[in-house]
Formats: sequence, structure tokens, C-alpha cells
Amino acid sequence: MKILISGAGIAGPTLAYWLKRYGFTPTLVERAPGLRSGGYVIDFWGLGYDIAEMMGLFPALSRVGYHMQELRVVDSDNARVAGFGTRVFSELTGGRFITVGRSDLCRLIFETIQRDCDVIFDDCIVKLEDDTAGIGVTFERSGERRFDLVVGTDGLHSGVRRLAYGPQDAMRRASAIWSPPSKRQATGRGTSASMSFMASRAGRSHASPSTRIAPCSYSYSLVSLTSGTTSARRKQF
Ligand SMILES: Cc1cc2nc3c(=O)[nH]c(=O)nc-3n(C[C@H](O)[C@H](O)[C@H](O)COP(=O)(O)OP(=O)(O)OC[C@H]3O[C@@H](n4cnc5c(N)ncnc54)[C@H](O)[C@@H]3O)c2cc1C
Repeated sequence: MKILISGAGIAGPTLAYWLKRYGFTPTLVERAPGLRSGGYVIDFWGLGYDIAEMMGLFPALSRVGYHMQELRVVDSDNARVAGFGTRVFSELTGGRFITVGRSDLCRLIFETIQRDCDVIFDDCIVKLEDDTAGIGVTFERSGERRFDLVVGTDGLHSGVRRLAYGPQDAMRRASAIWSPPSKRQATGRGTSASMSFMASRAGRSHASPSTRIAPCSYSYSLVSLTSGTTSARRKQF
């Protein structure tokens, strides 16, 4: 069976890994010219943690990840506005909790499959033609090919979903956790602030609590915290 996966983020290479384990050789197409670097950090526990463990990604994840000590909201002068300790997460998950750069996670998953899968960077699907014999796929750069299955793991604004089901507007309800920018501006205090983490490298047992690593912009969850509003704009997993 010929399988095409669109998007080499987190879901795409993970799916490729498991398909490979079960005897398939999927093709992966990624719009970016290479794996993305930098970016935000993500908290990692529960099912994702279990699956990463099954894939043998620990201890590599432990080497590049962080054990967060405090989640701190700061204003534009870097003064603490609010925050809370994060030991509770570790307690709730039995220590199976780690914070890791999205690009590090992405790279580590990708390294498990890059030698075994056909990977096409700097390209994307522009046309899908479904018929009884399979799916005709037209790529922007690589011409036409046929597959038996096409899987869209190309993120929030999935191109595969748009080609298969129509414009994203028709699916607005499905992405309701993202509030419009006009609403986010309305809260005043805190909107220009950024959030930073007190974190230590996972492998370092006595890191200084003042080591500030991985500043990042979490404006949508930040607004929820500073304005006291909840549900729709709160970060969800
Ligand atoms: C600020 C922030 C904080 C977050 N924190 C957490 C957290 O703490 N814990 C957590 O579990 N999750 C968190 N998330 C969510 C998490 O990042 C996403 O759920 C995850 O990245 C989704 O993975 P994915 O592979 O589905 O999509 P993505 O990671 O978005 O990857 C999609 C890939 O598809 C590629 N692509 C896009 N369009 C096309 C196309 N047309 N053709 C080919 N390729 C294409 C992109 O370049 C990208 O490489 C956070 C997200 C944000 C924005």
C-alpha cells in the first residue's frame, strides 16, 4: 500500500514511524525547505509521553528537555505579574512530565524515520483526485504520483483538509479555541507582556532556580490569566 503523509511536524513523522513498524514505507511531503528550528516549548505528558517512550525517544528527550520549576507571567519590564510553581504537574503525572522545544521533539521523531522513508521537502499537494483505483496526487513541484492513502498531518490550516473537504471557513466550529485578535486586544493590561519559564535542563539535578530559559510568547493563554476569562481562550490539550 502506498501511503502519502502531508506535513513533517509532530504527527506526520510519528505516523510514519508506526507505519514503518507495521511494514509500510510511507512518503512524507513537507512544505518547508527543511525541518523548522526554534519556536515555542511544549509540555509533554500523558499519552504523548507514553508513545514517545514506546518509540524509544527517551533518553534523547531528557537530554534536550527541561524540568520546569515555575510558570511566570512578566510585564514588559520583565517584572513578575503572576505565576505558579509547577511541581504539581510532576506530582500528578508521577514524574512523567517534561517540557521540550517543539523543534527538538520534531527533529528527534524525524531522525527515527529519515533513512527509511521517502521524504520530499519544499513541496506540497495542490490537487487530489480520488478514483476507484486510488488517489492521484499533484504536487506543486514534483509532478503527479499515485497513492492508495493520503493522510493530512499538515497542521491547523491543513491543506489536505481543504483539498478534500473545502475551505476552512466551513469548519470554523472545529477550531473554536482560537479567539480573534480583536478580542485578545480588548483586555488591556498584560497584552504586551510575554511569558517566560523558570526551567532547568532535565539532566541537571541542581540547576539554579534563577536560570531563565526559553522565553516565548503565549499571548492567548496569557490574556486568559490576566483578564480572568477562561474556557474559550485557555490553552487546551
Ligand atoms: C504557543 C503554543 C504552545 C503549545 N503548547 C503545547 C503544549 O504545551 N503541549 C502540547 O501537547 N501541545 C502544545 N501546543 C500544540 C502543539 O504544538 C500542536 O498540537 C502540534 O504541534 C501539532 O502537531 P502537528 O504535527 O499536527 O502539526 P504541526 O506541528 O503544526 O506541523 C504541521 C507541519 O505541516 C507542515 N505543513 C503545513 N502546511 C503544509 C502543506 N500544505 N503541505 C505540506 N506540509 C505542510 C508545516 O510546515 C509543519 O511542519 C502548543 C501550540 C502552540 C502554538
